Amino acid sequence: MRVLRADRSRALIDPDQVRRAIPDPDPPPPARQRRSHSYQAGGEDELALVDPPSYFRALAGVEVPTGGDMIPCPLPDHEDSHTSCQVFAEAERGWWCYGCARGGRMYDVASLLAGGPWGRELRHDAFARAREFAAAGLGYVGASSCNPLRCHLQAASRERRLRPEHDS
Ligand SMILES: [Zn+2]
Repeated sequence: MRVLRADRSRALIDPDQVRRAIPDPDPPPPARQRRSHSYQAGGEDELALVDPPSYFRALAGVEVPTGGDMIPCPLPDHEDSHTSCQVFAEAERGWWCYGCARGGRMYDVASLLAGGPWGRELRHDAFARAREFAAAGLGYVGASSCNPLRCHLQAASRERRLRPEHDS
C-alpha cells in the first residue's frame, strides 16, 4: 500500500487566488412568493384576486381608474368633502382612507359599507357576512351566466395555475 505524502516543496496556495479563480455560485432562486391571507389561512380565495378599483365600483358604486386613485371616501359614516380615500391598483395594497383612518382589503370596505367592523374586528360571523356581501356585490353568488368580472377572475386564476410549468 502506497502512502501519499503532502509535497512540502510546493508553494503554499494562496486562498485568495483560489477564491478568485472559482466563479461565485449562482444565488439561490428567490423563494416563491407566498400570498398570505390573514383571514383565510391556506387555500385560494378567488375573491382576494379582485383589484380594488373593481370592488370599489361593484360594492360602493364609485368609478376608480384601473390604475388606482384618490377618491372621496365612500363609507357611509364619513362625509368626505375631499378625496381622502386612496384606492390602489393592486389587490395586495388594497385601500386606505386618510380622513377616517380606515382601510384594508375588499372585505373591510364590504363590511364597513354594510355597517360592520373592519380590520382586526372583522372576524368570524362579521367576516362571513362581509364575504357574503362582497360576493353578492361582485355577482359571485348564484351567477349562472358568465358575467364579465367572473370571467376575468377565472381567466386570472387559470393563468396563475398554468404559469410557469406548461401551457396547454
Ligand atoms: Zn373615510
